[in-house]
Amino acid sequence: MIKKRIYFDHAATTPLLPEVRQFLSETMESMYGNPSSTHAEGRASRSFIEEHRKNIATILNCSTSELYFTSCGTESNNFVLKSAVSSMGIKRIISTRIEHSCNMQTFDWLHKHKQTNIEYLKVDDKGRIDLNQLETLLKSNGTPTLVSLMQVNNEIGSCIDIQEVGSLSKQYGALYHSDTVQGIGFAKYDLKNTNVDFISGSAHKFYAPKGSGFVYINHQQKPEPFIHGGAQERNVRAGTENLLGIGAMSFALKLCYDTYEERMSKLETLKAHFKQRLSTEFPNLEYNTPSENSSPKILNVQFPSFEGSELLPLMLDIEGLSISGGSACTSGAEKASHVISEIRHDHKGKAIRFSFAHFNTLDETDQVIEILKKCLSGKI
Ligand code: PLP
Repeated sequence: MIKKRIYFDHAATTPLLPEVRQFLSETMESMYGNPSSTHAEGRASRSFIEEHRKNIATILNCSTSELYFTSCGTESNNFVLKSAVSSMGIKRIISTRIEHSCNMQTFDWLHKHKQTNIEYLKVDDKGRIDLNQLETLLKSNGTPTLVSLMQVNNEIGSCIDIQEVGSLSKQYGALYHSDTVQGIGFAKYDLKNTNVDFISGSAHKFYAPKGSGFVYINHQQKPEPFIHGGAQERNVRAGTENLLGIGAMSFALKLCYDTYEERMSKLETLKAHFKQRLSTEFPNLEYNTPSENSSPKILNVQFPSFEGSELLPLMLDIEGLSISGGSACTSGAEKASHVISEIRHDHKGKAIRFSFAHFNTLDETDQVIEILKKCLSGKI
């Protein structure tokens, strides 16, 4: 009998919820007009998009005119960072070296091509920043500054309090961008009452299809066109809208928040149970995820090194378990992420990220323990 695979890689991407699949198949049949057309089919598509923009704005407590639809989290973050420099006068960015590569690469590009000064905060061995250091840097010069600090780290799950960082940034006149791609659907937002200027979201992280995302830009900031062409997205991001993607993203987001407490409590239970079993069975493991202020869906575990430890993700895959062990490299193995290299200086062992969904079960976590026992037997 073929054993059912176990998928613990929900921070990479999530499958569609059955309700989202149902919504999509119904919408697919009825909604095909071009939202820019003036005839009945076009008008129906336009109101469909605006209805879903309203839904997302209500969930995040912001205005519809502050939301722009994009194709993914990467585009959203590129849009924010490049706009902040090209149309909002930003000359300096304060961030960390553990941001997602779509931000890190954009910082490098802005530094090289737009002479933007990039300053990095230190992070500790669990990816936490020191707010005093942030304050010192904010105080230190009057250059127009953007603070860019992700809310939930996608590798290790450490979280930043966006209220706190937002207030500090505001106090010193800096703009604040938070990459919230791992937070949307898993944390609550009250954007009208939070001093954050930009946040980003990506549908495939919260059970909707890939290819759809959004960016929130506070109404005080006016972005210039990012993609040139038609008048879509209020002349800022041209191109015929991903109607089905937008609808499904909004629908999935509502489902996430309608069932928020129940889902979060399931995630917390799963993570606590799994960590407790790991600690009992393998007392010499270390955890890259902080015990407090971390995402309930992410547990990053440092396995001691042993001969072939680089191949642990592959061994687990063969045993039917999907996890993430860094980014793919040409050998078919995976190389350590820049995040782990930044928080651990010993370069020993192998970091594995386990990331859960509310429909994972305690039984699956127990099966994963058995798989680990088999793969690690006699090795650690
Ligand atoms: N930011 C974070 C924190 C992420 O985890 C990801 C995806 O893993 C992205 C940005 C990029 O999002 P997308 O895959 O939608 O481009």
